[in-house]
Amino acid sequence: MSDYILVLDEGTTSTRAMLFAADGEYVASAQQELTQHYPKSGWVEHDAEEIWIKTLACAVEILPKAGGAACIAAIGITNQRETVVAWDKSTGEPLTRAIVWQDRRTEPICSELRDAGHEADVQKRTGLLLDPYFSGTKMRWMLDNVPEVRAAAEKGTLALGTVESWLTFKLTGGAHVSDASNASRTLLLELAGKGFDEGLCDLFGVPHAALGQVIDMSGDLAVTEKALFGREIPVAGMAGDQQSATIGQACLSPGQTKATYGTGAFVLTNQGSVIPKSENRLLGTVLSQIAGERTYAIEGSVFVAGSLVQWLRDSLGIVEVASQTEELARSIPDSGGVTIVPALAGLGAPHWRADARGVITGLSFASGKAELARAALEAMAHQTYDLERAFAADGTAWETLRIDGGMAANSWMAQDLADILDVPVERPGFVETTALGAAMLAASGVGLYPDLASAAEAMRGELTRFTPGMDRAVRDDRLARWRRALEAA
Ligand code: ADP
Repeated sequence: MSDYILVLDEGTTSTRAMLFAADGEYVASAQQELTQHYPKSGWVEHDAEEIWIKTLACAVEILPKAGGAACIAAIGITNQRETVVAWDKSTGEPLTRAIVWQDRRTEPICSELRDAGHEADVQKRTGLLLDPYFSGTKMRWMLDNVPEVRAAAEKGTLALGTVESWLTFKLTGGAHVSDASNASRTLLLELAGKGFDEGLCDLFGVPHAALGQVIDMSGDLAVTEKALFGREIPVAGMAGDQQSATIGQACLSPGQTKATYGTGAFVLTNQGSVIPKSENRLLGTVLSQIAGERTYAIEGSVFVAGSLVQWLRDSLGIVEVASQTEELARSIPDSGGVTIVPALAGLGAPHWRADARGVITGLSFASGKAELARAALEAMAHQTYDLERAFAADGTAWETLRIDGGMAANSWMAQDLADILDVPVERPGFVETTALGAAMLAASGVGLYPDLASAAEAMRGELTRFTPGMDRAVRDDRLARWRRALEAA
């Protein structure tokens, strides 16, 4: 029976193939590490051919666990966003190394465009800021600096795309498409626009003809070449990783929010069909496009989340393993007035102060390991609260917060988030929400479920719920203490 979903989860440090049953149960996975190339300070590159070969190898390795290709109903793809691949359409070969989302080399192009006064208009149209993070200036850099890319553009054989676009080209043997969520990270798609925008392409110096067709994220998206797996398999789901995690957390109605607490924290709130407009330098992005209908999300991130716990462990030696912060926090009734503002790498949204540095306030002789560990965890709720205020000011208050990522395992932090945010917090039993989102898109896309909401309902699994319950006065005191410490940072 062909009712397994094969998810290709192409991340920054590794690529994986994961197998899900139709009810969302995780069956198996195969994983391979990806080589990181750092040719200069601030530059990060991947070998696109390696991404393809390893992704295919993982898929081939996992198929027997489903009973072979005949048992796969559909493929879902999710990927590191913003990373750019340039290849030749006629040969199918990459023309240069992929420029990875973390790469900062295009800062001069961005600052030139900012100085020329383009940021406000670009933000209004694309939801994004003029930052090297996004794909458009990376494409322009390749055209300006790689003779093979320029030559292919002149010959009319150049293809530019993000990673899902590259993988789909290879899987199908030549389709050049980009799903709407990945396309919305390029600076070349208007939030309201159907396809890549000619005017934005001109502004960024990217030939429109080198870009793929912008397509839906669920449905009849593409079909794999028969030679690859011995049979044609429909590709029925595609999404950038953060959008996929938001869908995997079933944030399908306006106000539903997911936060991923890893090294940093990524937060997305469903905005429904309303195009996001931010006064707080938050990002507007496409959350889903199904049957041509779009929903949008507001996105914000916090630079320092789990990395603060790593710092307590590795630099201060307060804990041996990250999870010990939980028992330390529980061992005392409060932090004894200690507050940590974790601006170790500046402050991100909504403060945007690159020059800010971390502070610890309220130290006394009574402050010990437990107080510092507790204050570190409390900082997660405070940073998230500031983000929530900015999201609310931009139009969408949070209704629930659904958490995932390595740090979400900390139940004390989860309860503190609920208390400080004053919204219910939910944590799924199965934390691979990025892969699960792509599985939901593919399962509904191939017709195993009538729509995405039914797929999410059936596939989401068990949840742990944390209900707000903090005493008002205690909460007010915490918020006031945080505000004072923030001023010091
Ligand atoms: P990433 O995907 O960014 O590499 P992960 O999602 O794997 O990160 O999360 C790992 C981070 O979470 C680490 O920074 C670690 O310090 C932190 N972490 C993991 N478990 C816990 C825990 N139980 N309590 C607090 N922090 C934790």
